[in-house]
Amino acid sequence: MNLEWAIFITAFLVGLLAGSFLNVVIYRGPQMWNLIDGHDRGNLVFPRSSCPSCGAIINPLHLVPVAGFLWLRGRCGACKDPISFRYPVVELLGGLAVLVAVVLFGSTLPAGLAALFFLFLIALAAIDYETGYLPDALTLPLIMIGIAANGFELFVPFADAIIGAFVGYLVFRAIDFAFLKLRGVEGLGQGDAKLLAAIGAWLGWVALAPTVFIAAILGLVAVGIMRLKGQAVSGDMAIAFGPALAGAAAIMMIASGLISL
Ligand SMILES: [Zn+2]
Repeated sequence: MNLEWAIFITAFLVGLLAGSFLNVVIYRGPQMWNLIDGHDRGNLVFPRSSCPSCGAIINPLHLVPVAGFLWLRGRCGACKDPISFRYPVVELLGGLAVLVAVVLFGSTLPAGLAALFFLFLIALAAIDYETGYLPDALTLPLIMIGIAANGFELFVPFADAIIGAFVGYLVFRAIDFAFLKLRGVEGLGQGDAKLLAAIGAWLGWVALAPTVFIAAILGLVAVGIMRLKGQAVSGDMAIAFGPALAGAAAIMMIASGLISL
């Protein structure tokens, strides 16, 4: 047991807590940002978390990441309704996000930023999966943080980041335009274009083509799994491209970290 391991364990625990906060963002954000309707879910701070089924305030001990879910065996302590698997999954992903960032980049500023990048991607993927939206409230700050970080050339040269943001946005808008002309439907949302712009801002224009390629593979794998499970896959479902794009972006950030090791 040396200092390095203590740092890794701390990083994972910090990440679990960050994941727990992401669950609040994922649940309350879409309504705060007027993307969905429904009963008032509150803001990112108030009120205290309650069960979406019965409204019971959740015991603070049951909010302990992952452990709370396991202790309750995945059911609300009051009404026994099932709790979404999204909660422990996002908490675990948050833990892995900070851990992987620290393993790849050490105890440095780029590690903190890479962790932030991963955490944004987790929130975006989950919100897109649940609501079909990639909120501007997340994609636009992500673009700006990426450009600011590369103002200090922390991941890629500044020019690559600026070009990456523009090209990322324009490429997807072009795909969109082609879809509209060919099939009369919107192929990809504006949110996808802004997410690709953010990926370009963080990882540079060079990373855009491989990211889209990996995302397409992840998307096809996801559709294949849904087919195997006997779920009907309509054209509309394939359009929820955000989670695949977020996964591909995380893979590309990990690859850039591995190269810099
Ligand atoms: Zn309940």
